[in-house]
Amino acid sequence: MRVKFNWVAVAVVSLVGLTAAQSAVAADEVNLYSARKEKLIKPLLDRFTHTTGIKVNLVTGKADVLLKRLQMEGKNSPADLLITTDAGRLHRAKAAGVTQGFKSSLLESEIPASFRDSEGHWYGLTLRSRPILYVKGRVNPAELSTYEALADPKWRGRICIRSSSNIYNQSLVASMVASSDVAKTEMWVAGLVKNFARPPKGGDRDQIKAAAAGQCDIAIANTYYLAGMLTSKDAGQRAAAEKMAVFWPNQNGRGAHVNVSGIALTKAAKNRANAIKLAEYLIGEAAQKWYAEKNGEYPVRAGVAQSSVLEHWGKFKMDSLNLSRLGELNPDAVKLMDRAGWK
Ligand code: FE
Repeated sequence: MRVKFNWVAVAVVSLVGLTAAQSAVAADEVNLYSARKEKLIKPLLDRFTHTTGIKVNLVTGKADVLLKRLQMEGKNSPADLLITTDAGRLHRAKAAGVTQGFKSSLLESEIPASFRDSEGHWYGLTLRSRPILYVKGRVNPAELSTYEALADPKWRGRICIRSSSNIYNQSLVASMVASSDVAKTEMWVAGLVKNFARPPKGGDRDQIKAAAAGQCDIAIANTYYLAGMLTSKDAGQRAAAEKMAVFWPNQNGRGAHVNVSGIALTKAAKNRANAIKLAEYLIGEAAQKWYAEKNGEYPVRAGVAQSSVLEHWGKFKMDSLNLSRLGELNPDAVKLMDRAGWK
């Protein structure tokens, strides 16, 4: 299949009336491949251009397609930066050799070490959590405790979760391997699969909808999907989301599973200085607030206010696992999920 991409010039810089020196600045640009939807990134890029005069050329696409494209283009790739979700995918990009490490004292001071690659191949920009969501009135939260306890037979036929091909689930399972080992995690997955209400299908929102519709009592999903449904224009989505509550698992232990969306400098980057400027802009306070709020995620930078929806679900203990481990353990996670019968 041939996929056609169109560059979207994010900012139109008027050259009329500029001196030669100024127009050289105005011609400054940076090329970004983003697996995030245009509406979740473009307004920020516009602000960046407005502030710096650096034009951002944006290509959006599916994460795996963009990674393949970077691999195929090799050193001829026009891309300077890649933005994608999930540390597992960021690690894949690093392992595929399409990124390069870079240093930034700003990024290093603002982003906790567990949310960036130790060699600077990627830096987390936003944080997301994947807790247990339950149907109010059908589950007593006192019955819930940990991800591990979801394998208990009392949950037989009561859990909705998407397929094992999904990177979010692979990363959740990788975090469990990191906290115990492959054998114990495989046993856990086998127990969890027995508790599935139905064969996995659909995305995270579909699990929430199925739970609200009475097909299951528990859904595992990233909180920004629930936030998006709660603030949706669609009354049906709002009604479904309102039936659900968030339970933060493993609060007496390692904490709830978290992941990031992040940014990487490509190996082929030709506009290196501008690329680093953009990465640093995205970790700035205003960008962090907008970026996290717009998609119901958590800022990766400390001290930035959360959106009111997230505030409502309360503070929770996050797993402090270095997210590079999610990528390193991804092959183990994928294999054990397959062996344990998670379709
Ligand atoms: Fe997502």
